Amino acid sequence: MVKYLKQYRIPFSGLTAGKHDFEFEIDDKFFDCYEHSLVKNGDLKVLVQFQKQETMLIVNFSIEGTIKLTCDVCLNEFDSPLQFTERLIVKFVNEEWDNDTEEVLVLSKTDYELDIAGLLYEYINVRVPYYTKCSEQGINLTCDAEMLSKISNSSQENESSTEEEKIDPRWAALKNIKNN
Ligand SMILES: [Zn+2]
Repeated sequence: MVKYLKQYRIPFSGLTAGKHDFEFEIDDKFFDCYEHSLVKNGDLKVLVQFQKQETMLIVNFSIEGTIKLTCDVCLNEFDSPLQFTERLIVKFVNEEWDNDTEEVLVLSKTDYELDIAGLLYEYINVRVPYYTKCSEQGINLTCDAEMLSKISNSSQENESSTEEEKIDPRWAALKNIKNN
């Protein structure tokens, strides 16, 4: 458990019945905590609303902001807007419960806080498109023409010098620098 993520734990045991709102920020440091995160950079606001009842907690998430995506065509990096809501039902039970589904999270009566870091991580990462293209973002973005011609030139060169380029990861690093 990475220390930075401790701030995403919401204590609920002392809360009265009814609605309670919480706000969180998600930034690059959040994604740094997850080695395999598809998203490396982002800036999002998270509103969490608890509806506490005797035997359960209804948790509504409202997430809005941007994540950094890389175009699969021109390698351009851009901020992609993201806005969505999620709902989670948390039930408290004493006995063993093996009916744990996606929507219902079961906690024991002795649990006193809800760790939302892993949930947020999942909610955001499942929304990363499998294929990203500038012009398909709906934010008036087009592929970087200069970069496109560079890529097509270098892929022609690749055909003659594939070996060298494959074993030299510095090429990839250089591409990133040009991109910035
Ligand atoms: Zn592009």
